[in-house]
Amino acid sequence: MSSERRTVLHVDLDAFYVSAEVRERPELKGSPVVVGADPEGGKGRGVVVACSYEARKFGLRSGMPISQAFKLCPQATYMPPNWGLYERVSEQVMATLKGFADRFEQGSIDEAYLDVTSKAGDEGTATAYALQVKKAVREKHGLSCSIGIGPNKSSAKIASDRNKPDGMTVVPFSGVAGFLAPLPVGVVPGIGPKTRDFLNEKGIATISQLQELEGKQLLTWFGKNGVWLWGVIHGQENVEVRQQEMPKSLSVERTFKDDVKDFRQVRGEAADGASELMRRLKSAGYSYKVAGIKIRFRGFETHTRERTLVSHTDSECPLLETIERLLDEFETWGKPVRLIGVRVADIQRSESGPSKLDSWVG
Ligand SMILES: [Mg+2]
Repeated sequence: MSSERRTVLHVDLDAFYVSAEVRERPELKGSPVVVGADPEGGKGRGVVVACSYEARKFGLRSGMPISQAFKLCPQATYMPPNWGLYERVSEQVMATLKGFADRFEQGSIDEAYLDVTSKAGDEGTATAYALQVKKAVREKHGLSCSIGIGPNKSSAKIASDRNKPDGMTVVPFSGVAGFLAPLPVGVVPGIGPKTRDFLNEKGIATISQLQELEGKQLLTWFGKNGVWLWGVIHGQENVEVRQQEMPKSLSVERTFKDDVKDFRQVRGEAADGASELMRRLKSAGYSYKVAGIKIRFRGFETHTRERTLVSHTDSECPLLETIERLLDEFETWGKPVRLIGVRVADIQRSESGPSKLDSWVG
Protein backbone atom coordinates (compact mmCIF):
# COMPACT_ATOMS: atom_id res chain seq x y z
CA MET A 1 0.00 0.00 0.00
CA SER A 2 1.44 3.36 -0.96
CA SER A 3 1.90 5.93 1.77
CA GLU A 4 -0.21 8.26 -0.35
CA ARG A 5 -3.29 6.16 0.19
CA ARG A 6 -5.97 7.82 2.24
CA THR A 7 -9.37 6.89 3.55
CA VAL A 8 -11.86 9.68 3.02
CA LEU A 9 -15.48 9.87 4.15
CA HIS A 10 -17.77 12.39 2.51
CA VAL A 11 -20.69 13.06 4.82
CA ASP A 12 -23.77 14.73 3.34
CA LEU A 13 -26.76 15.55 5.54
CA ASP A 14 -30.05 14.45 3.97
CA ALA A 15 -32.48 17.20 2.88
CA PHE A 16 -30.71 19.35 5.45
CA TYR A 17 -32.78 22.57 5.60
CA VAL A 18 -36.03 20.63 5.74
CA SER A 19 -34.66 18.15 8.28
CA ALA A 20 -33.55 21.03 10.52
CA GLU A 21 -37.07 22.52 10.30
CA VAL A 22 -38.76 19.19 11.01
CA ARG A 23 -36.53 18.68 14.03
CA GLU A 24 -38.01 21.92 15.41
CA ARG A 25 -41.55 20.88 14.47
CA PRO A 26 -41.72 17.07 14.79
CA GLU A 27 -45.41 17.06 13.86
CA LEU A 28 -44.29 17.68 10.25
CA LYS A 29 -42.29 14.46 10.12
CA GLY A 30 -43.29 12.28 7.16
CA SER A 31 -45.24 15.03 5.39
CA PRO A 32 -44.41 17.21 2.38
CA VAL A 33 -42.45 20.26 3.56
CA VAL A 34 -41.10 23.04 1.36
CA VAL A 35 -38.58 25.70 2.32
CA GLY A 36 -38.64 28.62 -0.08
CA ALA A 37 -40.52 31.66 -1.28
CA ASP A 38 -44.08 32.39 -0.15
CA PRO A 39 -46.39 30.53 -2.61
CA GLU A 40 -49.13 33.18 -2.13
CA GLY A 41 -51.79 30.69 -3.16
CA GLY A 42 -50.01 29.85 -6.41
CA LYS A 43 -49.25 33.44 -7.45
CA GLY A 44 -45.96 33.67 -5.56
CA ARG A 45 -42.64 34.47 -7.20
CA GLY A 46 -39.32 32.96 -6.24
CA VAL A 47 -38.26 29.35 -5.96
CA VAL A 48 -38.19 26.19 -3.87
CA VAL A 49 -34.96 26.26 -1.86
CA ALA A 50 -35.37 22.74 -0.46
CA CYS A 51 -38.10 20.14 -0.03
CA SER A 52 -38.64 16.95 1.92
CA TYR A 53 -38.48 13.52 0.30
CA GLU A 54 -42.28 13.30 0.72
CA ALA A 55 -42.63 16.51 -1.33
CA ARG A 56 -40.28 15.11 -3.98
CA LYS A 57 -42.79 12.32 -4.55
CA PHE A 58 -45.12 15.00 -5.95
CA GLY A 59 -42.43 16.07 -8.42
CA LEU A 60 -41.13 18.99 -6.38
CA ARG A 61 -37.46 19.89 -6.75
CA SER A 62 -35.20 22.59 -5.40
CA GLY A 63 -34.88 25.45 -7.85
CA MET A 64 -38.45 24.94 -9.14
CA PRO A 65 -40.67 28.05 -9.29
CA ILE A 66 -42.73 28.15 -6.10
CA SER A 67 -45.94 28.70 -8.14
CA GLN A 68 -45.34 25.40 -9.94
CA ALA A 69 -44.61 23.62 -6.66
CA PHE A 70 -47.89 24.91 -5.24
CA LYS A 71 -49.82 23.57 -8.24
CA LEU A 72 -48.25 20.13 -7.80
CA CYS A 73 -48.57 19.99 -4.03
CA PRO A 74 -50.80 22.67 -2.45
CA GLN A 75 -51.14 20.62 0.76
CA ALA A 76 -47.43 20.88 1.61
CA THR A 77 -46.28 23.01 4.53
CA TYR A 78 -44.48 26.03 3.05
CA MET A 79 -41.99 28.02 5.10
CA PRO A 80 -39.35 30.70 4.43
CA PRO A 81 -35.66 29.77 4.87
CA ASN A 82 -34.39 30.24 8.41
CA TRP A 83 -30.65 30.58 7.81
CA GLY A 84 -29.92 31.32 11.44
CA LEU A 85 -31.32 27.91 12.38
CA TYR A 86 -29.45 26.06 9.60
CA GLU A 87 -26.16 27.70 10.51
CA ARG A 88 -26.61 26.86 14.19
CA VAL A 89 -27.50 23.21 13.53
CA SER A 90 -24.69 22.91 10.97
CA GLU A 91 -22.16 24.19 13.47
CA GLN A 92 -23.23 21.57 16.03
CA VAL A 93 -23.13 18.68 13.56
CA MET A 94 -19.77 19.77 12.14
CA ALA A 95 -18.28 19.80 15.65
CA THR A 96 -19.39 16.17 16.06
CA LEU A 97 -18.02 15.13 12.66
CA LYS A 98 -14.71 16.84 13.35
CA GLY A 99 -14.20 14.59 16.36
CA PHE A 100 -14.11 11.55 14.07
CA ALA A 101 -11.47 12.88 11.67
CA ASP A 102 -7.68 13.09 11.45
CA ARG A 103 -8.23 15.98 9.09
CA PHE A 104 -11.53 17.73 8.61
CA GLU A 105 -12.80 19.98 5.84
CA GLN A 106 -16.26 21.47 5.68
CA GLY A 107 -17.47 21.55 2.08
CA SER A 108 -20.68 23.50 2.60
CA ILE A 109 -23.34 24.10 5.23
CA ASP A 110 -24.32 20.40 5.11
CA GLU A 111 -21.30 18.52 3.77
CA ALA A 112 -17.87 17.62 5.06
CA TYR A 113 -14.82 15.56 4.17
CA LEU A 114 -13.24 13.45 6.90
CA ASP A 115 -9.77 12.03 6.38
CA VAL A 116 -9.89 8.97 8.66
CA THR A 117 -6.76 7.20 7.38
CA SER A 118 -5.37 6.51 10.86
CA LYS A 119 -8.66 4.93 12.05
CA ALA A 120 -9.54 2.91 8.97
CA GLY A 121 -7.09 1.71 6.33
CA ASP A 122 -9.37 -0.54 4.31
CA GLU A 123 -12.94 -0.65 3.05
CA GLY A 124 -14.24 -2.94 5.81
CA THR A 125 -12.88 -0.94 8.72
CA ALA A 126 -13.99 2.27 7.04
CA THR A 127 -17.54 0.97 6.67
CA ALA A 128 -17.76 0.11 10.37
CA TYR A 129 -16.34 3.54 11.23
CA ALA A 130 -18.81 5.31 8.95
CA LEU A 131 -21.66 3.50 10.72
CA GLN A 132 -20.43 5.01 14.00
CA VAL A 133 -20.45 8.44 12.39
CA LYS A 134 -24.03 7.98 11.18
CA LYS A 135 -25.10 6.78 14.61
CA ALA A 136 -23.56 9.81 16.33
CA VAL A 137 -25.23 12.24 13.92
CA ARG A 138 -28.58 10.54 14.43
CA GLU A 139 -28.39 10.18 18.20
CA LYS A 140 -26.81 13.54 19.06
CA HIS A 141 -28.55 15.68 16.45
CA GLY A 142 -31.61 13.77 15.29
CA LEU A 143 -30.50 14.00 11.66
CA SER A 144 -29.74 11.43 8.99
CA CYS A 145 -26.85 11.61 6.58
CA SER A 146 -25.45 9.73 3.62
CA ILE A 147 -21.80 8.77 3.51
CA GLY A 148 -19.47 8.00 0.64
CA ILE A 149 -16.26 6.13 1.40
CA GLY A 150 -13.29 6.25 -0.95
CA PRO A 151 -9.52 6.54 -1.24
CA ASN A 152 -9.81 10.20 -2.26
CA LYS A 153 -12.17 13.17 -1.91
CA SER A 154 -13.76 13.14 -5.35
CA SER A 155 -14.75 9.47 -5.31
CA ALA A 156 -16.09 9.75 -1.74
CA LYS A 157 -18.16 12.77 -2.76
CA ILE A 158 -19.59 11.04 -5.82
CA ALA A 159 -20.35 7.96 -3.70
CA SER A 160 -22.27 9.84 -0.97
CA ASP A 161 -24.80 10.90 -3.59
CA ARG A 162 -25.41 7.37 -4.92
CA ASN A 163 -27.67 6.15 -2.17
CA LYS A 164 -29.79 8.77 -0.41
CA PRO A 165 -31.28 9.25 2.11
CA ASP A 166 -29.56 7.51 5.02
CA GLY A 167 -27.24 5.63 2.65
CA MET A 168 -23.69 4.46 2.53
CA THR A 169 -21.66 3.68 -0.57
CA VAL A 170 -18.15 2.24 -0.64
CA VAL A 171 -15.81 2.83 -3.57
CA PRO A 172 -13.36 -0.09 -3.95
CA PHE A 173 -10.03 1.49 -2.96
CA SER A 174 -8.18 -0.19 -5.83
CA GLY A 175 -11.02 0.12 -8.30
CA VAL A 176 -12.09 3.75 -8.40
CA ALA A 177 -12.00 4.03 -12.21
CA GLY A 178 -14.13 0.90 -12.56
CA PHE A 179 -16.65 2.17 -10.00
CA LEU A 180 -17.00 5.46 -11.88
CA ALA A 181 -17.05 4.03 -15.41
CA PRO A 182 -20.80 3.34 -15.79
CA LEU A 183 -21.92 6.61 -14.15
CA PRO A 184 -23.11 9.62 -16.17
CA VAL A 185 -20.56 12.45 -16.50
CA GLY A 186 -22.83 14.82 -14.54
CA VAL A 187 -22.06 13.05 -11.23
CA VAL A 188 -18.57 14.55 -11.19
CA PRO A 189 -18.56 17.55 -8.83
CA GLY A 190 -17.82 20.60 -10.96
CA ILE A 191 -19.49 19.21 -14.07
CA GLY A 192 -22.65 21.29 -14.07
CA PRO A 193 -25.43 21.33 -16.67
CA LYS A 194 -23.41 23.43 -19.14
CA THR A 195 -20.37 21.16 -19.15
CA ARG A 196 -22.61 18.09 -19.22
CA ASP A 197 -24.42 19.40 -22.30
CA PHE A 198 -21.10 20.30 -23.91
CA LEU A 199 -19.83 16.73 -23.38
CA ASN A 200 -23.14 15.17 -24.45
CA GLU A 201 -22.93 17.12 -27.70
CA LYS A 202 -19.53 15.50 -28.26
CA GLY A 203 -21.21 12.12 -27.80
CA ILE A 204 -19.85 11.63 -24.28
CA ALA A 205 -22.50 10.59 -21.77
CA THR A 206 -20.71 8.27 -19.34
CA ILE A 207 -17.48 8.48 -17.40
CA SER A 208 -16.18 5.41 -19.26
CA GLN A 209 -16.42 7.40 -22.49
CA LEU A 210 -14.58 10.23 -20.79
CA GLN A 211 -11.91 7.76 -19.62
CA GLU A 212 -11.24 6.74 -23.23
CA LEU A 213 -10.18 10.27 -24.16
CA GLU A 214 -6.55 11.31 -24.15
CA GLY A 215 -5.52 13.67 -21.36
CA LYS A 216 -4.57 16.23 -24.00
CA GLN A 217 -8.20 16.47 -25.08
CA LEU A 218 -9.38 17.34 -21.57
CA LEU A 219 -6.59 19.89 -21.32
CA THR A 220 -7.73 21.52 -24.56
CA TRP A 221 -11.34 21.67 -23.44
CA PHE A 222 -10.97 22.55 -19.78
CA GLY A 223 -7.45 23.92 -19.24
CA LYS A 224 -6.09 23.44 -15.73
CA ASN A 225 -9.40 21.96 -14.60
CA GLY A 226 -8.94 19.27 -17.23
CA VAL A 227 -5.90 18.00 -15.33
CA TRP A 228 -7.97 17.71 -12.17
CA LEU A 229 -10.80 16.05 -14.11
CA TRP A 230 -8.41 13.50 -15.62
CA GLY A 231 -7.25 12.61 -12.10
CA VAL A 232 -10.84 12.27 -10.86
CA ILE A 233 -12.06 9.90 -13.57
CA HIS A 234 -8.95 7.72 -13.39
CA GLY A 235 -9.03 7.53 -9.60
CA GLN A 236 -5.76 9.48 -9.32
CA GLU A 237 -7.07 12.70 -7.80
CA ASN A 238 -5.05 13.29 -4.67
CA VAL A 239 -6.16 16.64 -3.23
CA GLU A 240 -5.76 16.55 0.51
CA VAL A 241 -8.48 17.20 3.05
CA ARG A 242 -7.73 20.77 4.05
CA GLN A 243 -7.90 21.72 7.71
CA GLN A 244 -9.31 25.14 7.13
CA GLU A 245 -12.18 26.92 8.76
CA MET A 246 -14.90 27.92 6.36
CA PRO A 247 -16.83 31.10 7.06
CA LYS A 248 -20.62 30.78 7.33
CA SER A 249 -21.08 34.15 5.74
CA LEU A 250 -19.03 37.10 4.53
CA SER A 251 -20.02 40.71 4.81
CA VAL A 252 -18.79 44.25 4.37
CA GLU A 253 -20.22 47.35 5.96
CA ARG A 254 -19.62 50.99 5.15
CA THR A 255 -20.52 53.77 7.56
CA PHE A 256 -20.96 57.20 6.04
CA LYS A 257 -19.14 60.08 7.69
CA ASP A 258 -22.27 62.18 7.33
CA ASP A 259 -25.73 60.67 6.88
CA VAL A 260 -26.47 60.38 3.17
CA LYS A 261 -29.69 61.61 1.57
CA ASP A 262 -28.75 60.94 -2.05
CA PHE A 263 -29.71 57.30 -2.56
CA ARG A 264 -27.47 56.99 -5.64
CA GLN A 265 -24.54 57.34 -3.27
CA VAL A 266 -25.94 54.52 -1.12
CA ARG A 267 -26.29 52.29 -4.19
CA GLY A 268 -22.78 53.15 -5.33
CA GLU A 269 -21.32 52.30 -1.95
CA ALA A 270 -23.27 49.01 -1.84
CA ALA A 271 -22.04 48.01 -5.31
CA ASP A 272 -18.52 48.87 -4.26
CA GLY A 273 -18.86 46.73 -1.14
CA ALA A 274 -20.23 43.88 -3.25
CA SER A 275 -17.17 44.00 -5.49
CA GLU A 276 -14.86 43.88 -2.51
CA LEU A 277 -16.83 40.93 -1.12
CA MET A 278 -16.59 39.07 -4.43
CA ARG A 279 -12.83 39.57 -4.58
CA ARG A 280 -12.50 37.98 -1.13
CA LEU A 281 -14.91 35.19 -2.00
CA LYS A 282 -13.26 34.33 -5.32
CA SER A 283 -9.71 34.39 -4.05
CA ALA A 284 -10.75 31.82 -1.43
CA GLY A 285 -12.47 29.65 -4.07
CA TYR A 286 -15.97 30.00 -2.58
CA SER A 287 -19.41 30.38 -4.09
CA TYR A 288 -22.57 31.69 -2.39
CA LYS A 289 -26.31 31.16 -2.56
CA VAL A 290 -27.76 33.85 -0.30
CA ALA A 291 -27.31 37.57 -0.90
CA GLY A 292 -28.44 40.29 1.45
CA ILE A 293 -28.18 43.87 2.61
CA LYS A 294 -28.16 45.74 5.87
CA ILE A 295 -29.18 49.36 6.00
CA ARG A 296 -29.09 51.72 8.94
CA PHE A 297 -30.89 55.04 8.96
CA ARG A 298 -30.29 58.07 11.12
CA GLY A 299 -31.24 57.24 14.69
CA PHE A 300 -29.88 53.67 14.48
CA GLU A 301 -33.01 52.19 12.86
CA THR A 302 -31.59 49.08 11.15
CA HIS A 303 -33.09 46.68 8.63
CA THR A 304 -31.81 43.55 6.89
CA ARG A 305 -33.15 41.83 3.79
CA GLU A 306 -31.95 38.77 1.92
CA ARG A 307 -32.75 36.59 -1.06
CA THR A 308 -31.85 33.01 -1.88
CA LEU A 309 -30.60 32.32 -5.40
CA VAL A 310 -31.56 29.28 -7.46
CA SER A 311 -28.09 27.77 -7.16
CA HIS A 312 -24.61 28.49 -5.83
CA THR A 313 -22.60 30.92 -7.90
CA ASP A 314 -19.25 32.66 -7.79
CA SER A 315 -20.22 35.42 -10.17
CA GLU A 316 -20.83 39.02 -9.21
CA CYS A 317 -23.93 39.74 -11.32
CA PRO A 318 -26.54 37.94 -9.20
CA LEU A 319 -25.21 39.68 -6.09
CA LEU A 320 -25.40 43.13 -7.68
CA GLU A 321 -28.86 42.48 -9.10
CA THR A 322 -30.17 41.24 -5.77
CA ILE A 323 -28.76 44.20 -3.89
CA GLU A 324 -30.31 46.60 -6.39
CA ARG A 325 -33.72 45.01 -5.97
CA LEU A 326 -33.50 44.86 -2.18
CA LEU A 327 -32.50 48.54 -2.03
CA ASP A 328 -35.57 49.61 -4.06
CA GLU A 329 -37.78 49.21 -1.00
CA PHE A 330 -35.67 51.56 1.11
CA GLU A 331 -35.18 54.22 -1.54
CA THR A 332 -38.87 55.07 -1.34
CA TRP A 333 -38.53 55.78 2.39
CA GLY A 334 -36.50 58.93 1.69
CA LYS A 335 -34.61 58.79 4.99
CA PRO A 336 -30.95 59.74 5.57
CA VAL A 337 -28.73 56.64 5.54
CA ARG A 338 -25.94 56.10 8.02
CA LEU A 339 -24.63 52.64 7.09
CA ILE A 340 -24.91 50.21 4.22
CA GLY A 341 -23.81 46.57 4.37
CA VAL A 342 -23.67 43.68 1.91
CA ARG A 343 -23.65 40.04 2.92
CA VAL A 344 -23.39 36.63 1.26
CA ALA A 345 -24.18 33.35 3.03
CA ASP A 346 -24.65 29.62 2.42
CA ILE A 347 -21.05 29.54 1.29
CA GLN A 348 -19.62 26.51 -0.46
CA ARG A 349 -16.15 25.68 -1.69
CA SER A 350 -15.73 25.14 -5.43
CA GLU A 351 -14.69 21.54 -5.97
CA SER A 352 -12.08 21.88 -8.67
CA GLY A 353 -10.26 24.76 -7.08
CA PRO A 354 -10.36 28.37 -8.12
CA SER A 355 -12.91 28.12 -10.90
CA LYS A 356 -15.64 25.67 -11.76
CA LEU A 357 -15.58 23.73 -14.99
CA ASP A 358 -18.85 25.43 -15.86
CA SER A 359 -17.37 28.90 -15.84
CA TRP A 360 -14.88 27.57 -18.37
CA VAL A 361 -17.29 26.18 -20.93
CA GLY A 362 -19.30 28.71 -22.97
MG1 LIG B 1 -27.15 17.50 1.67
